[in-house]
Amino acid sequence: MRLSRYFLPILKEDPKEAEIVSHRLMLRAGMIRQQAAGIYSWLPLGKRVLDKVNAIICEEQNRAGAQEILMPTIQSADLWIESGRYNDYGQEMLRIRDRHDRALLYGPTNEEMVTDIFRAHVRSYRDLPLNLYHLQWKFRDEVRPRFGVMRSREFLMKDAYSFDLDLEGARASYNRMFVAYLRTFHRFGLKPVPMRAETGPIGGDLSHEFVILAETGESAVYCDRNLLDLPIPGEDTDFTRDLSPVIDAWTGAYAATDDMHDEAAFGEVPEERRVSARGIEIGHIFYFGTKYSEPMRALVANQEGEMVPVHMGSYGIGPTRVVAAIIEASHDAAGIVWPKSVAPFDAGLINLKPGDEKTDEIADGLLTRLERAGLEVLYDDVEARAGAKFASMDLIGLPWQVVVGPRGAAAGEVEVKDRATGERETLSLDAAVNRLVHDKA
Ligand code: ATP
Ligand code: MG
Repeated sequence: MRLSRYFLPILKEDPKEAEIVSHRLMLRAGMIRQQAAGIYSWLPLGKRVLDKVNAIICEEQNRAGAQEILMPTIQSADLWIESGRYNDYGQEMLRIRDRHDRALLYGPTNEEMVTDIFRAHVRSYRDLPLNLYHLQWKFRDEVRPRFGVMRSREFLMKDAYSFDLDLEGARASYNRMFVAYLRTFHRFGLKPVPMRAETGPIGGDLSHEFVILAETGESAVYCDRNLLDLPIPGEDTDFTRDLSPVIDAWTGAYAATDDMHDEAAFGEVPEERRVSARGIEIGHIFYFGTKYSEPMRALVANQEGEMVPVHMGSYGIGPTRVVAAIIEASHDAAGIVWPKSVAPFDAGLINLKPGDEKTDEIADGLLTRLERAGLEVLYDDVEARAGAKFASMDLIGLPWQVVVGPRGAAAGEVEVKDRATGERETLSLDAAVNRLVHDKA
C-alpha cells in the first residue's frame, strides 16, 4: 500500500479531549473518528487492526468448538418482555419505535435472541452441548462514555452463548471458553488475569472477568503475582478433554476485582506477591443457569424424556475496547508499538527521496519482493522531511521499518529498524528481505 494513496489522517497535535494514552494515540494515528458522544467511525488503519483482533477471536472461538452466527443489531422488545428484562434494563437500553409503533431496541446484548433461536430448533439433549457466537455492534447508553473506544456507547462485542443439559455440562462449556479467552488475549500480547466476578442471584464460582493490568484501568483489582507468569494453554489444547486442571491452576491463586475483593483472603497471599493495581476488563464469562431458558421456555428432553430448561452461559469480549487496551499495554513516548499479531501492516518502507531514480528503484523493488512474500507493507512514497517520516512511522507503530536513502541505495543497502527494541541495522537488500520474511514465518 502506497502512503500517497492511503487515507491516513495523522494529527500533529495532541487532541485535547483525549485523557488516556490509547485514546490520544488512536486519534493521532488516524485510526478512529468520533461521530457523536461515544460513537466512532473506524478509519483504514484502525479497521485493519480491528479486523485482525476479530480474526484471532474467531479462530480461538472456533477452536474451542463454538460456531459463528450473526444476529441483528435491532431486536424486538417482545423477547425482552418475555424474559422480564425489558423494564429492568433501564436507561442504558436504546428503545426505538418503528412506523407501526412497534417497540424495538438496539441490542445491548443477545441472551434473549439466541434463546429464541435455540428454542425454535433444539429439542433434545442429544444436540448438546451447543455454543453459538457472533461479532456484532452493541449499543449501551452509558452515563459517561469516555476514553474513546474504551468505554463507548456503540461498541463491537463478540458474544458467545453455551447450551447444556445440566450444570456439569455447563461447567465444561465454561471451561472451554475460559481457556479460549486465555489463548485469545495472549495472542494479542496481553497478560490476561481471570478474576472472580459477581455471579448475581445464581451464586457459585462460574463468573470471571478477564482483566489486564494498566494504570489507566477503571477498576481497582487485586491479585497474586504468580498469575502473571502462569503458562498459557497451547495451540494443541484438546478441547474435548476435561480442562478443569487448567482452570484450577488459574483460579487457585487470589484474583478479584473491587466488588469481589476480600481483604482478609488477600492478606494471606505472601506480601511480596500481593499486586494491588488498576485493571481494564476486556472479557467476561458467565454461567447463569436457567435464568432465560425458564421464562422463555427453552426446553430440551433429557435422557429420561422429561422436558427441562437448558443451562446457559454467556461469554463476551469487546474487540473495540481490546484495540485500545493493546495500546495501553504497548506504546512508548514516540507512539504505538503493535504486537506483530495485530499490527495493521507488517512493515513500513520509507523512501527518503522519492523521485530519485536509484532510491525509487530500490524501494519499489523491495515493496514488490516483500509483498510477494506475503508481507503487508505500508510504503511511504511521500515527499517530506526525513524527521517527519520517521515520526509518523514511529507513531503508527508498525513492527519493522525499512529505510531507503540515496546513499545506501547507491551501495545496495537499507536500514532496518525494529520498532519494539529500537535496534537498527544496515543490511543488504537480500538480508533485509530475509530478516522480515523469516520473522513473519
Ligand atoms: P463494564 O463493567 O466495563 O461496563 P460490562 O461488565 O457491562 O462492562 P459485559 O456485559 O460483561 O460488560 O460485556 C462484555 C465485554 O464487552 C466487556 O468485557 C468489554 O470488553 C466490552 N464492553 C462492555 N461495555 C463496553 C463499552 N461501553 N465500550 C466498549 N466495550 C465494552
Ligand atoms: Mg462485565
